[in-house]
Amino acid sequence: MPEMIIGGEARASVASGDIEVVNPATEEVVDTVPAATPEDVDAAVDAAARAFPAWSATDTEKRAAIVAAAADLIADRAKDLAPLLTAEQGKPVAEAIGEINHLVHGLHYYAEAATKVQGTYQDLPSTFGPSYGMVIRRPLGVCAAITPYNFPLTLLGTKIGPALVTGNTVVAKPAATTPLATLRVAQLFVEAGLPAGVLNVVTGRGSDIGDALVTHRDVRRVAFTGSTPVGKHIMSLAGPDLKRITLELGGSDPVIVCEDADVDAAVKAVIIGRYWNAGQACLGCKRVFVHDDVYDAFVSALVDRVGRYEPGDGTVKAEKPKLRMGPIHTKAGRDELLEQLEDGASKGGEVLIGGGSGGHDQGWFLEPAVVADPAADSRLVTEEVFGPVLPVFRYTDFDDAITRANATSYGLGSSLWTHDVRKIHRAARDIESGMTWVNQIHYGYDELPFGGVKDSGFGKEHGLEALDHYVELKSVVVGGLA
Ligand code: NAP
Ligand code: MG
Repeated sequence: MPEMIIGGEARASVASGDIEVVNPATEEVVDTVPAATPEDVDAAVDAAARAFPAWSATDTEKRAAIVAAAADLIADRAKDLAPLLTAEQGKPVAEAIGEINHLVHGLHYYAEAATKVQGTYQDLPSTFGPSYGMVIRRPLGVCAAITPYNFPLTLLGTKIGPALVTGNTVVAKPAATTPLATLRVAQLFVEAGLPAGVLNVVTGRGSDIGDALVTHRDVRRVAFTGSTPVGKHIMSLAGPDLKRITLELGGSDPVIVCEDADVDAAVKAVIIGRYWNAGQACLGCKRVFVHDDVYDAFVSALVDRVGRYEPGDGTVKAEKPKLRMGPIHTKAGRDELLEQLEDGASKGGEVLIGGGSGGHDQGWFLEPAVVADPAADSRLVTEEVFGPVLPVFRYTDFDDAITRANATSYGLGSSLWTHDVRKIHRAARDIESGMTWVNQIHYGYDELPFGGVKDSGFGKEHGLEALDHYVELKSVVVGGLA
């Protein structure tokens, strides 16, 4: 049984409980991990606090080199890591490899970026004698990194990459259902030379240890990715102590396909955007609005492609031309999708394909679905749909499409398919979301700030902007020059 990583060592919980990690394709237990308690959280935060002075005083170049070495080790071990991620999460092995590659790319991005950051020099008025100012960057201290089950590794990387290179120490808490690959990756950081206590991992249920981690007095910053209700709870806990937080929450990304769109390219992008990771993606394409002129062509090509998916065990390749889709991560998640689908069908939606179990008695499978025109008050429209179920809508007026795209509490991503520069400009300006992709797949590039508005949260991960979330900008005035 893998143990937690606290102070550079494998550590059991102070209590005796375990958490069983279950393979969503087979319902078999993959492994067990300690069920951490608030005392374990204290031990991890203490270890991180003890490691902070030396780590924050280490040369940036040295910190970056260790992060880069860890990234190289992870790349070397991708073939062992991927099946472990598949076993605990469910995604096909090829998608697990994709996730690991993204993690490695992101870590290298921050290792390189950290050594290139330049500061500010400012001439100042000589009101109190000649002086100049500069802005220096100081790390914050212990940061908590709380990650969800859908992309356990990339979302770990988006937090620990910028945190570690800027000199902070970290306590990571993976989802209770996906702790295994995270523990393995943290172990590789230790092997790559990361000093003891700089990166700690506690395994436990959010309901048992989440509050203790967020409210710990030595935790200065919380980076959270997960659902909107838990994000709001974390904000309420972090507020009284003025802790810095970023909240990367749920989404209901709209896609608008205009009459001049490259329909084939749009369909291919929506297929990836909605059905990758069995639809369990924050920036998934969750509502598609298609212009009347191209609606029939779009929908028939979409349904055709969706029909190629074969839900099954992610370790077994599908026979061409079938495409593998893994299971839904939990039974509760699968059942909720079935309820949302049923609600959409009862409110005017026509289920064009999908919704069955794919003939599996074991595992939480769902055949990917497309639903035409469910009502605006159906759950497929008003809620985040976290799985392979896609509502498509017909529109005729572009302004109306923008209004409907914005008729959601969420505001994570959005996309537009057109070559009309006026519409591109309008969408970029008027769609309420943190990102708009134009003629492009919904994807979180390491190079660009990523994050939502409205109920999708705030704060940025990715890009150079994320580095600023892990430092205090401190103004220093130097006088006595004359
Ligand atoms: P979740 O239920 O909110 O859980 C996320 C993490 O929070 C898990 O580690 C969970 O631990 C922990 N947690 C639960 N209660 C907590 C508490 N009281 N204090 C501190 N931590 C607590 O989310 P999920 O179901 O795993 O993930 C799916 C959601 O994440 C979707 O809404 C999706 O859109 C969103 N997401 C957003 C982004 C983005 O970048 N915007 C990216 C990916 C996913 P347990 O597992 O132990 O409950
Ligand atoms: Mg959850």
